[in-house]
Amino acid sequence: EETILELVDVKKHYPVLGGVLRREVNSVKALDGVSLAIKRGECLGIVGESGCGKTTTAKAVIRLHDATSGAIFFLPKGQETPVDIALLSARQLKKKNLRHRLQMVFQDPTTSMNPRMLVKHIIAEPIIEGESLTSLELEDRVVTLLKLVGLDRSHLYRYPHEFSGGQRQRIAIARAIATNPECLVLDEPTSALDVSVQAQILNLLQGLRKKMGLTYLFVTHHLLVVKYMADRIAVMYLGKIVELATTETLFENTRHPYTWALLSGIPDTKPDKTRQRVLLKGDVPSPLDPPSGCRFHTRCPFAIATCLKTEPSLTDIGGGHMVACHRHGDTQALFRQYKDAT
Ligand code: SF4
Repeated sequence: EETILELVDVKKHYPVLGGVLRREVNSVKALDGVSLAIKRGECLGIVGESGCGKTTTAKAVIRLHDATSGAIFFLPKGQETPVDIALLSARQLKKKNLRHRLQMVFQDPTTSMNPRMLVKHIIAEPIIEGESLTSLELEDRVVTLLKLVGLDRSHLYRYPHEFSGGQRQRIAIARAIATNPECLVLDEPTSALDVSVQAQILNLLQGLRKKMGLTYLFVTHHLLVVKYMADRIAVMYLGKIVELATTETLFENTRHPYTWALLSGIPDTKPDKTRQRVLLKGDVPSPLDPPSGCRFHTRCPFAIATCLKTEPSLTDIGGGHMVACHRHGDTQALFRQYKDAT
């Protein structure tokens, strides 16, 4: 399978003033060396608590902000060599016709929509940036897109406020797919919606992915959502990936204590297999001054001396299952012991 998108050691550091006199320049390490390859047509989920770097990753990919260092290779359909989009300016992206191949859907569609624009123009906007169509052709295109997302012609001449949250997200999705993109970056696309509406939007997204051969980078803090949507999942903690595996492996053969703690928070539907909720100590530490060694050691129930000193590297433990934990070989037994003891 072809890799459509590859992040190589991507870092995003923000300078901040610190110290007593606020004169020292520190940096917040929002992303601290993220490497990730996404295959064409797959849905890769990124999960973690807020502040772990998942949205920063999404924004770096879509070039809403520049990465401090690292490469982001994108392989457009029909091309043989990937382009490092981290090096391109917004103007160059547009010139190389890449801007429209990667699109983003945000959590709150109202923030990305002009409230004074009619639905027709909201959806048409990205199309007319790249193509010149007659107004009839344009209207036909917009109606086709509306139908793809479960709306119709009767919605063309209405304003965003006339719609429900779920319908507005459908409009945002129609706009995102209007330019026939290859990859959608979805940042918590259903988190602002009611549970019943969430399922409809997730089904719509799954259907569109198959129909249009899209690749998804799906960012969420919601594990059941990502379990439903993703083929593979990357778990992030304090700007780094700590575990990456196929969805099934991540849930059934969890190796990283942070992943295990996150999963333990999910209510289990099977009554005979109750999960033990693991209460993590404290909050996520500040990315301004991340803990030494393994960044999770301040909250990990299984930390040993090495964890405080040496940073574990993300290692393939077989079949593409990547884990960054010194004790990955023992964690399954440790999880069982923990469960028996509590
Ligand atoms: Fe816990 Fe140590 Fe593994 Fe980090 S490396 S997750 S502190 S056991």
